[in-house]
Amino acid sequence: MADLTITFLGTGTSLGVPMIGCDCRICRSTDSRDKRTRASIHVETADYAWLVDTGPDFRTQALREGVRRVDAVVFTHSHTDHIMGFDDLRPFCFGDKELPVYASPDTMRDLSRAFQFAFNGENRWPGYIRPLPHLIDGPFQFGATEITPLPVLHGRISVNGYLFRRNGEPLAAYLSDCKEVPAVVRAEIRGVRHLIVDALRYTPHPTHMNVEEALALASDVAADQTWLTHLSHDVMHAEAEAALPTGVRIAFDGLKIEI
Ligand SMILES: [Zn+2]
Ligand SMILES: [Zn+2]
Ligand SMILES: [Zn+2]
Repeated sequence: MADLTITFLGTGTSLGVPMIGCDCRICRSTDSRDKRTRASIHVETADYAWLVDTGPDFRTQALREGVRRVDAVVFTHSHTDHIMGFDDLRPFCFGDKELPVYASPDTMRDLSRAFQFAFNGENRWPGYIRPLPHLIDGPFQFGATEITPLPVLHGRISVNGYLFRRNGEPLAAYLSDCKEVPAVVRAEIRGVRHLIVDALRYTPHPTHMNVEEALALASDVAADQTWLTHLSHDVMHAEAEAALPTGVRIAFDGLKIEI
């Protein structure tokens, strides 16, 4: 078994691809890799399994991928495309189990406001979700995996990417929503085996990297393999991937990487 398996539950931007009401050639594409649900990943190791974000498509993603094990959930930030599937975590709390939820103080504040029925501790009927909040203030451990928060700029806000290390080896870094990656974060992830990074579209955007910016980051970080995610209907999988340099590929819903 691989040390760490990442399943891409979703690789799309907030509107998803296809986008409602759009007849562009990517929204009409018959390539299944051009169908992108909202971005999140499931990470599994021998001793622990977790999600990074629960977007509005979480239920269908979990059914599609047969997700059976979730020991904790980690959030990057509180934009709706990353949190709105939260209540569908209920099956992972059956038997009155508490589900550890890791987030920055800002993100936890927004989560506890959006899902106050779950966080306020009242009316804990059987079958309700039971979050156990953990505020992130530094690296933390899931079994033998060390998780390091990576604060990156997503427009005007700072959000968390995450680095996963086992036995001291940096296996994967996930930066789903970012426009700028500070030097200290670049230094932390340099040489990581797999870099997963935001690449919204080709033209510049105020809060997300475009493909060109993502490629510049990829060459700086020099991962063995870089994967582009959080993609809009600007990017046609087959065509875009053919134009990428060696070592950079486009992630798609259902892709599994075993590290
Ligand atoms: Zn997003
Ligand atoms: Zn379109
Ligand atoms: Zn966002």
